[in-house]
This record gives sequence, structure tokens and C-alpha cells, in this order.
Amino acid sequence: MQIFSCPFCGPRPEYEFHFGGDLGNHRPEGADVSPEVWAQYLHFRNNPKGIAQEIWLHMTCGEIFAMQRDTVSMAAEPGQPLIPEETRP
Ligand SMILES: [Zn+2]
Repeated sequence: MQIFSCPFCGPRPEYEFHFGGDLGNHRPEGADVSPEVWAQYLHFRNNPKGIAQEIWLHMTCGEIFAMQRDTVSMAAEPGQPLIPEETRP
């Protein structure tokens, strides 16, 4: 079993986490977004071989965060909050 590190809870087993997508895959804005653009946003992934910047959800605490993971070695860096602490409400 792999251990991921939530920036809020620390190291936890991987089954507590859910993949949230590629970091930087921004939701299309506007009412006139084409079906092709929506399909690209929803279904297409970069799927890099090697270092990947990803969004993950820690289902136990409900926080989302960014994590760098190597898809070859499966090494994962500690997660980083998406919203800096000083700007949190
Ligand atoms: Zn957590």
C-alpha cells in the first residue's frame, strides 16, 4: 500500500484519497462552451510518463490539495494546499 501525505493530516494510506484530475485543467467559463471543449475538460487527461502535477481529495478531512507524483516510480511528494493558509476564510 502506498502512503500519501495530506497537507492537513499528514501521512495516510492511499485508500483515503481520491484522484481529482490534472493540476491546471481549468473549468471552461461562459454559456457558449462547445461540446468539444467540455469533452476535453471532462474526459481527456495528460497522463504523463514521469512527473505529474495532480489534484487529490483527502476523503477523511474533505480537503483538496496539489500533489506531485512520479507515475513511473510511484513516488509522491507531500501534498500542498491549493489555497494558501493566509488567504483562507
Ligand atoms: Zn486530510
